[in-house]
Amino acid sequence: MTRFIDVPSLGQLVNRVGMPEFFRGMVATMRADFSRWEEFDKCARLASHSDVGVIELMPAADAQRYAFKYVNGHPGNGRHGLTTVMAFGALADVETGLPVLLSELTLTTAFRTAAASVLAAQELARPDSRVMGIIGCGAQSDFQAIAFHHLLGIEEVRVFDIDPRATAKLVNNLAAFPGLKVTPVKSAQAAASGVDILTTVTADKNFATVVTADMLSPGLHINSVGGDCPGKTELHVDVLHAGHIFVEYEPQTRVEGDIQQLPEDYPVTELAWVIDGTADGRLHDKDVTIFDSVGFALEDFSALSYVNQLASEHDIGEVVSLVPDLADPRDLFALCAPQSPLQQTAVA
Ligand code: NAD
Repeated sequence: MTRFIDVPSLGQLVNRVGMPEFFRGMVATMRADFSRWEEFDKCARLASHSDVGVIELMPAADAQRYAFKYVNGHPGNGRHGLTTVMAFGALADVETGLPVLLSELTLTTAFRTAAASVLAAQELARPDSRVMGIIGCGAQSDFQAIAFHHLLGIEEVRVFDIDPRATAKLVNNLAAFPGLKVTPVKSAQAAASGVDILTTVTADKNFATVVTADMLSPGLHINSVGGDCPGKTELHVDVLHAGHIFVEYEPQTRVEGDIQQLPEDYPVTELAWVIDGTADGRLHDKDVTIFDSVGFALEDFSALSYVNQLASEHDIGEVVSLVPDLADPRDLFALCAPQSPLQQTAVA
């Protein structure tokens, strides 16, 4: 049998555990999975592009579990009353192929993306970071702010969006977190000015330049989340030249990340090697570090594993017959044969 987690069930799970704890557990699961990087079957996601967006499939597996996510990215979806990013996915048992979890992944993706950002910042940002700028106040931004507040000690966020309604939404939602000072500002420059960490989480498919080199200050950590697809960027190429660049899975980020603007042999470091101590992260307080995040399937593997474990502990979600449960596994026909007891019950 398969556990099914829909959007309300995921919300219920987060509230049952508490948001700080939910984030903490997800970052810990992701850190543990990144620490055993070589145990995973990894590949770049399969993307199907259109003029208005992208639909992607993202698989990852170890010897026990297989996970995949379906996800889209449509920056203009607001005019249809839909979010830019929507997702669902499954976790299966490698031994048998049985899907153990079928889950919503839209809300979960926002948590897992913020968790991946925190994981990178734990390795790369200055430990005394207290102020973060956020450029782009859409669906992902709240999660980024809350995760960095609870897990990294961020005390103030300076927030900017070209759409004042998005900024107002973020300010309003973050008012529930009294320990976090929220300062709306009037430009991307103002959001970057004097901050320790700069998070860019905009959605635009047209080689956007949200951050320019004149906005950088010594010691800044850039958490670049929105540039995640060919033609979709946020950082000017001079910004990339000014910092040390860290990525999730290099073959995928070369195509999708802000580093698509750089030559193919330009040096970048995979985050997993920093986490396991094989590669250097930040070397000096004055270095500029850049996490060129695009979203990698292993993060969804971690998120699905974590949700599966919590949902069974708290008995949340519904157990559904996604695959047949048969007395005789070769008698699949029994499920639809008109004379079968199952069909007779349905008719009655
Ligand atoms: P969203 O559409 O809800 O919000 C995007 C916001 O960016 C909007 O409010 C828009 O007004 C604002 N914006 C656009 N251009 C801007 C600019 N130049 N300056 C300031 N603000 C600007 O989208 P979302 O769900 O919050 O996602 C944001 C981005 O993050 C998308 O590009 C999405 O594809 C990406 N994303 C990445 C990951 C990852 O793992 N790296 C995961 C999820 C989403």
